[in-house]
Amino acid sequence: MPAATARKQAEAALRESEERYRTIFELSPSGIIVVSPDSGTILDCNDTAARNLGYSREELTRLRIADIDALESPADVLAHIARVRAAGHERFATRQRTMGGELREVVVEARPVTLNGRTAMLAVFEDVTERKRLEEQRQQFVSLVENSTDFIGMCDLEFKPFYLNAAGMRMVGLESLAQVRQTPVWEFLFPEDRRVAMEQFFPRVLREGLREMEIRFRHFATGAPIWMLWSVFTLQDSDGRPSGYATVSRDITERRRLDDALRNANRRKDEFLATLAHELRNPLAPIRNAVDILKLQGSADSNTQAACDILDRHSRQLVRLVDDLLDVNRIGRGKLQLRRERVELSTVLAEALEGASPRVLAAGQELSVSLPPEPVCLDADPVRLAQAFVNLLNNASKYTDRGGRIRVSAERNAAAGVAVTVADTGIGIAPEQLARIFDMFTQARASATDPQPGFGIGLALARGLVEMHGGRIEARSEGAGCGSAFVVYLPVVDDTLSAQPAPAGDAEDHTAGAARRLLVVDDEQLVAKSLAVLLRLLGHAVEVAHDGFEAIAAAERSNPDVILLDVGMPKLDGYAVCRRIREQPWGKAMRIVALTGWGMEEDRRQSAEAGFDGHLVKPVDASTLSKLLREPLMAKR
Ligand code: ADP
Repeated sequence: MPAATARKQAEAALRESEERYRTIFELSPSGIIVVSPDSGTILDCNDTAARNLGYSREELTRLRIADIDALESPADVLAHIARVRAAGHERFATRQRTMGGELREVVVEARPVTLNGRTAMLAVFEDVTERKRLEEQRQQFVSLVENSTDFIGMCDLEFKPFYLNAAGMRMVGLESLAQVRQTPVWEFLFPEDRRVAMEQFFPRVLREGLREMEIRFRHFATGAPIWMLWSVFTLQDSDGRPSGYATVSRDITERRRLDDALRNANRRKDEFLATLAHELRNPLAPIRNAVDILKLQGSADSNTQAACDILDRHSRQLVRLVDDLLDVNRIGRGKLQLRRERVELSTVLAEALEGASPRVLAAGQELSVSLPPEPVCLDADPVRLAQAFVNLLNNASKYTDRGGRIRVSAERNAAAGVAVTVADTGIGIAPEQLARIFDMFTQARASATDPQPGFGIGLALARGLVEMHGGRIEARSEGAGCGSAFVVYLPVVDDTLSAQPAPAGDAEDHTAGAARRLLVVDDEQLVAKSLAVLLRLLGHAVEVAHDGFEAIAAAERSNPDVILLDVGMPKLDGYAVCRRIREQPWGKAMRIVALTGWGMEEDRRQSAEAGFDGHLVKPVDASTLSKLLREPLMAKR
């Protein structure tokens, strides 16, 4: 290649190189200046430098470092730049002010360059304000996370942790991040919980972005469980794709312990109340029988009669309280079962009014009822629903003065089916009481017509029963002295009851009925005796047996029409007695009725299975017994 061509090529290459570097110089986001090391005069600069320092490029290249107002400490900058000559390189931090007066953090990198054959200093000003701010912010987050008492950690999509804060490590007994990194997430859990966590929980986190569950973590050193509220969310990469999981979780061991303790205490309370109610029920049976005997015998002496009335009223009240307590307890434990059927609201209300009206009338209160003209059909347990209304009616009477008014009304309600209101003109309920009036053992005020303090379970029971029917109950009152209204909303069944005329002869028999031959079996002498006396007073022939064997022998010997048979007896219990009697040719047609303190669905099923025709829960009152004994004695099997 001729020398001229080579030179030209070299010149061209040089120009290209010069152009390339010039472009980098011009476009650099960092300010660049070239300074004379002796005078500090600025020999060259790029646009960024001029703009950052608040000058045009022409102005800046006429100035010396010392003249630049924007630099916080020009002398310092110059001293650093001067040092480049000896050191060959200098990096230092300084600050410069923007046109708006804002101080920016700058890092300057200075190196010697040759300009026009002379040594000059090239200084690159990099604005690190934002980076420093981000770094500070990051540090703050790091210390927040590090100082948090929550368990904070992150892992990748393969469940390999890459971070766990100090509190997290302490909680599970890990000592270093290296240890954490070697411990896959599932190892933090107990083996029996891993499946649900890995196969259900994490896939849902991935689908939904965030989920929470309560789970036990395992302490790696002691093996102790730590209950955590495990809150996990996905981490995302810059394209928004999941790149891992993060958790901020809380140790809830103490809360769980308290929850358990509370649940246990509540369960024990419920169990205690159930036992208490049963224990109270047993002596109530003979007491009620004794009262019925006294009443049937009658007395000419007015004092005795008054005493008898007191006994009657209060023992009835006790029976009702104990029954309510048992029922509310059963509802609380999910053990009460409804026997639902299609029933008209009017039938339920009639039943309730029959139960409550004696008390209302005795208190001289006016009772009015208004129902929709068309039948309202419910899918309900008529006995249980009536019980709820009896409680409301009894309260209405109890908390209303003599001569007050009680009104029962029902209206079809587009949203809720039917709304039944029991309203009174009584003592009313203060606003602050309204909210918790349905809670168990809540008593707002003494009764207006009843000197006996209440027990505070009537409304809890009413609410429980109504809710079991898919309804709800509301209390309303304008305040003390303004009367109260309880509104029961119930779902209705769409079709009306097909009117079925009662078959002839099914009408209630009000006559005393034929005398029966009865066998009363109870291991408790007192119960058996009082029941026998009562039944004899009702005109029946009664024999008594005190255990199962005696009962079978008596049944065979005297062939009674009806056996009232206690279920819980030593030696041979009522079920066994019933089964054995049923096995005998003479025992098939006998009517056998279970007499027991237990009236749960399960108890009834068991007694039906054993061959009983009926199931009466103690204490049984005279009217129930006489009704039972009036029923025709057709063979049922
Ligand atoms: P009890 O009547 O046995 O105390 P309840 O659960 O039936 O228990 O009622 C709880 C409380 O609600 C009562 O003590 C009474 O203060 C208040 N209460 C209930 N019904 C009425 C009513 N119709 N009018 C005024 N207060 C009522």
